[in-house]
Amino acid sequence: MSTILPSVADQVIESLLDTAAVQRAFSYFDARAGAITEEQTQINSIPAPPFGEAERAEYLRQRLCSLGLAEARLDDEGNCVALRRGTSEAPLLVVSAHLDTVFPADTDLTLRRVGAKLFAPGIADDACGLAALIAVAGALQSCEIETAGSILFVGTVGEEGKGNLRGVRCLLTKGEWAGRISAFVSFDGAGLDRITNGALGSRRYRVQFRSAGGHSWSDFGIANPIHAMAHAVAKLASYPAPTDPRTTFNVGRIDGGQSVNAIPREASMDVDLRSVSADELLKLDAFFRRSVREAADEENASGRNGAEALTVVTELIGERPGGETRVEDPLVRLALAATEAVGGKPALDRASTDSNLPISLGVPAVTLGAGGTSANSHTPDEWYDPRGREVALKRALLVILGTVGLRVVNRKS
Ligand SMILES: [Zn+2]
Repeated sequence: MSTILPSVADQVIESLLDTAAVQRAFSYFDARAGAITEEQTQINSIPAPPFGEAERAEYLRQRLCSLGLAEARLDDEGNCVALRRGTSEAPLLVVSAHLDTVFPADTDLTLRRVGAKLFAPGIADDACGLAALIAVAGALQSCEIETAGSILFVGTVGEEGKGNLRGVRCLLTKGEWAGRISAFVSFDGAGLDRITNGALGSRRYRVQFRSAGGHSWSDFGIANPIHAMAHAVAKLASYPAPTDPRTTFNVGRIDGGQSVNAIPREASMDVDLRSVSADELLKLDAFFRRSVREAADEENASGRNGAEALTVVTELIGERPGGETRVEDPLVRLALAATEAVGGKPALDRASTDSNLPISLGVPAVTLGAGGTSANSHTPDEWYDPRGREVALKRALLVILGTVGLRVVNRKS
């Protein structure tokens, strides 16, 4: 016997494991492994490109309704939201997965099975998470597990790239649930061990340089947008980004100009800035914006021709706030204890997920793998292997019940 006293989280998990209703829910996951995979393939057959998630949201709404969550509905942003009431509303835990994929509407989503592996774009990210959400809701309903706090099941829109977390942002800051959410769990992708408690912050910009343009020879001296942009890129590339805390920048797209012998009228670039540290991200962001301004000013100052000045427009096209749910937070403690309790090796992790938003607002949040294994996400070769998925579903159930608490504890006889 260990001389170290078990933590509160360990005791909570132990007591849950000793509860008949929880054991029934575990059996539910074991017995329904095949059906959960069928559900996942069904979900993935419904296209859900960024800003095109409505059909998949409606599918989820109907599924949650059919499980007895009759109030499931779509909110103003397009999220599917279903409240499962406990004895009281608080603590109110969001259990979510994102509806959208990175793939355009015309992507071929035909499923291919090779051995145990399921190949299809989006099958892991995040059809796997949505299947987990439905499985957990199904287990709670079917095993009639009554909770003290309440659970808000949410299929979010706009988690990927261009969506810019619009679904979760609306849920936490604008809709009827804003200010009422105590904790947040998101299922995103496969895996058992991963507990994402760190939110990787990022800012994305589109910068456009514009001038009058002209002839390369006869109008020489008119400010050149491509020259200015190149200066800005060179300045950014000289930034001494720290490796710890990891901080990165990338000019990922450039565009502009018409002809080799014309001063361009326009040049533009898309820039991605990231850091695990909110302070470092702010520093990099300030350096970048100053670089753009200085580059424009220098190009204008070098003008040997009295034409109007070059202008620059810097547009923020994406913002994911960073931060972290502290390791000491009860939600992270529960996730660590639950992962160990089901035989996993918990690994804390930092990524850019729906949890970024609650974390930035001070709402404890973690993103959990929804079981099984996968690879090649965000590519047409994405695959998912459901073997062992039920272990992660059990872990998730323990985290959820540990957070909201059980209403009636049925001890095993
Ligand atoms: Zn995802």
